[in-house]
Amino acid sequence: MSTFDTPELRAFRAEVRDFLQHNLTPDLVLATRGGLHMEREPMARWQKALNARGWGGPHWPKALGGTGWTELQRYIFEEESAFADAPLGDVHGLFLAGPMIIAAGSAAQQARYLPKVLAGEEFWCQGFSETNAGSDLASLKTTARLEGDEWVINGHKTWLSSGHHADLMFCLARTDSEVKPQAGLTQFIIDMRSPGISLQPILTMDEGHSVNAVFFDNVRTHRDNVIGELNHGWTYAKELLARERVNNAQGPRTKRDIVELDRMARTRLGVDGKPLIEDPLVRRRLAILTADFVALESAALGVLAQQMAGNEPGPAASTLKIRGSELQQRVSETAMSLLGQSGVVLAPEYGGGLLAPDATGWAERHFFRRVVTIYAGANEIQKTIIAKSILDM
Ligand SMILES: Cc1cc2nc3c(=O)[nH]c(=O)nc-3n(C[C@H](O)[C@H](O)[C@H](O)COP(=O)(O)OP(=O)(O)OC[C@H]3O[C@@H](n4cnc5c(N)ncnc54)[C@H](O)[C@@H]3O)c2cc1C
Repeated sequence: MSTFDTPELRAFRAEVRDFLQHNLTPDLVLATRGGLHMEREPMARWQKALNARGWGGPHWPKALGGTGWTELQRYIFEEESAFADAPLGDVHGLFLAGPMIIAAGSAAQQARYLPKVLAGEEFWCQGFSETNAGSDLASLKTTARLEGDEWVINGHKTWLSSGHHADLMFCLARTDSEVKPQAGLTQFIIDMRSPGISLQPILTMDEGHSVNAVFFDNVRTHRDNVIGELNHGWTYAKELLARERVNNAQGPRTKRDIVELDRMARTRLGVDGKPLIEDPLVRRRLAILTADFVALESAALGVLAQQMAGNEPGPAASTLKIRGSELQQRVSETAMSLLGQSGVVLAPEYGGGLLAPDATGWAERHFFRRVVTIYAGANEIQKTIIAKSILDM
């Protein structure tokens, strides 16, 4: 019997499937499948629908408006959502800012910010990286200086995903430059409409706009907007990044993609007129992807079991991030090979009928997925974490 094969979990899966069938509209499915960089409106609409059902925060505690589900229920929910092509929602609010405020924020911050994330009314972005502080994040230069009851922020951040959709930013800034770099950092909440903030779009090679540079010129935020303790921002950042890496493994979405590849290979014909699946090289490639996915999923379930026991994911998050991100890239490379010419058009909705329906969104995913081995901490850095923390090297 598999981990998921209990009467309770089967009933739960049926309930989720039923909800998705009755609430997910075709335009939301197309927005999820067809475009990588979803607009705010469809994400907010889907979040509101989930929240109305009481499912706005699948991984949040019940007392703070979450579902209180077990990790296995959460995994089932994500798997069903992936197979139905449901939007991911505001990742920064739901998976990063929310959990950090739940873990370290004040009661007033929890009351002010969490309900609006659940309701899809406020969106967040993550202000950590700077031009010369990516892998070496602790060397960041953005400063915060206390003036009366307000912190004054100066500097810049880059690669801000969804910054142009966001109402709020959680921002890591230097509050003490006399101590070692990691010890002088603090997490702030900043209103994106504050005077002194300017945003510049950065276009990526998939021709999409999802990232931005942001500049702070004497931006003010109230002293109540410090998350947790002053100068403890690095600790919260490490916990947040580990959660982000587990999330970035994207097991359920990759599983859905592999099923899609299998379908593609069975319905598309090769130059010999036979279905591609009859080519032993295609079968071998799909078999290896499937085997690697099964290994990833069992590692992910191991981490979920740890989380269910109340433990943070720790360095195992780095293992999931490496294997999950590499697999995502190999999956979209395989899709592009199977699709051949019909895969090379970007933006399917403007493809003038050039694109076969099964090619929808693959070119965008293929190009944008260059990034998955870089963001949330480049894979080379994850290998160093594994070497130090797991292998004790
Ligand atoms: C599309 C996209 C979205 C992003 N979204 C966000 C966001 O929302 N918020 C945010 O704060 N950041 C975001 N990032 C930033 C991301 O976290 C950084 O790009 C990442 O941490 C790498 O930093 P860097 O780009 O400065 O590269 P660098 O740190 O300059 O690294 C360049 C290369 O050198 C390697 N390298 C560096 N140091 C070492 C070392 N010690 N050992 C071995 N190899 C090393 C790296 O692995 C990498 O391959 C995003 C990035 C991208 C591209």
